[in-house]
Amino acid sequence: MSGGPAAVGPTAADWAAAVAAVRGLHADARVLLICHVNPDGDALGSMLGFALGLRRLGVRHLQATFPGPPGVPEPFRWLPGVELLVPQDDAYPEPDLVICFDAASESRLGDLADRLGRGTSLVLDHHASNTGFGDVNLVDPHAAATSVVALGLLDRLGVPLDAATATGLYVALTTDTGSFRFEATTPAVHEMAARLLATGIRPGDVSRRVFDTRPFGAVRLFGEVLGRATLEPAAADGHGLVWTYATRDDLTRHDQPAYVLEALIDSVRCTAEADVSCVVKQSGDAEWAVSMRSKGAVDVSRVAVGLGGGGHRFAAGFTGRGPLDDVIGRIRAALTGAVLTAPPA
Ligand code: AMP
Ligand code: MN
Ligand code: MN
Repeated sequence: MSGGPAAVGPTAADWAAAVAAVRGLHADARVLLICHVNPDGDALGSMLGFALGLRRLGVRHLQATFPGPPGVPEPFRWLPGVELLVPQDDAYPEPDLVICFDAASESRLGDLADRLGRGTSLVLDHHASNTGFGDVNLVDPHAAATSVVALGLLDRLGVPLDAATATGLYVALTTDTGSFRFEATTPAVHEMAARLLATGIRPGDVSRRVFDTRPFGAVRLFGEVLGRATLEPAAADGHGLVWTYATRDDLTRHDQPAYVLEALIDSVRCTAEADVSCVVKQSGDAEWAVSMRSKGAVDVSRVAVGLGGGGHRFAAGFTGRGPLDDVIGRIRAALTGAVLTAPPA
């Protein structure tokens, strides 16, 4: 049931094992939900939506958490279920069941990876690169978001959807499909969205809060960071690279929290002259969180894996170490010879 090829998605036995892991919980069981570091809309939305579903099933001892500093990015602070979040240091040390969301490997769980060996572990994810690190792995690389897998499990557990549960799952779906614009937006995605919207959630409110609201300081910061974007038409064997960077000093000068930088890639990737786009965000003295996007000529997931990270074909990332110029140099080098000659497997 575990460790099989992720390319095929969960088997009937995987689903049955996951259902049994939840159904078999005793009345006082402690359930800990974990999502990946620097949580995005899919990580938080899938986790909190699923958490509310578990609560409806009668699970009483329930915590949700993520590695690193405990603050939830402003765009997600209104999500139903945030009250279930605890700082990682307060998370059950000995949970009976651990459920991980949107994390392709244990390394994305930071210090919380130590909870995996304590009780049963269940992994819900949609990264093709998922290492199958749970006792039970529900990994569907064809799913547009982890929330597709989360809803699949809630359905099999017989949990009826309500607006609170649906909100997190919808935020996850709309985030990972770029508001239903990306290739992964299949008919099934719209059918799932229809089910979620039918609970009464308001998509206009969700989009405004998640995508279309940022402090004025962030608007000014974006102007500065976009103003120094660099286009390298010869990179990626002539398919082009556009990149920019933001330092911690940029954030301090504009008095902005780091999460505001997550939206920058969506402006940079619009560049017509480049297949590949990158935003390099300083995360330590000599440490950079790199976001990469592709329009299809390059599988950025392969590139990111080669640089120590991971992700999907069109959206991936890694942590770069050393001076900025070196990180950019490594990206440039990795993009040479990376253009796909055939569709990826
Ligand atoms: P982001 O650019 O942060 O929105 O991330 C895009 C995709 O790349 C997501 O699916 C992440 O799971 C993946 N990703 C980003 N950073 C890393 C990293 N340091 N290690 C592994 N995967 C990453
Ligand atoms: Mn994610
Ligand atoms: Mn995801």
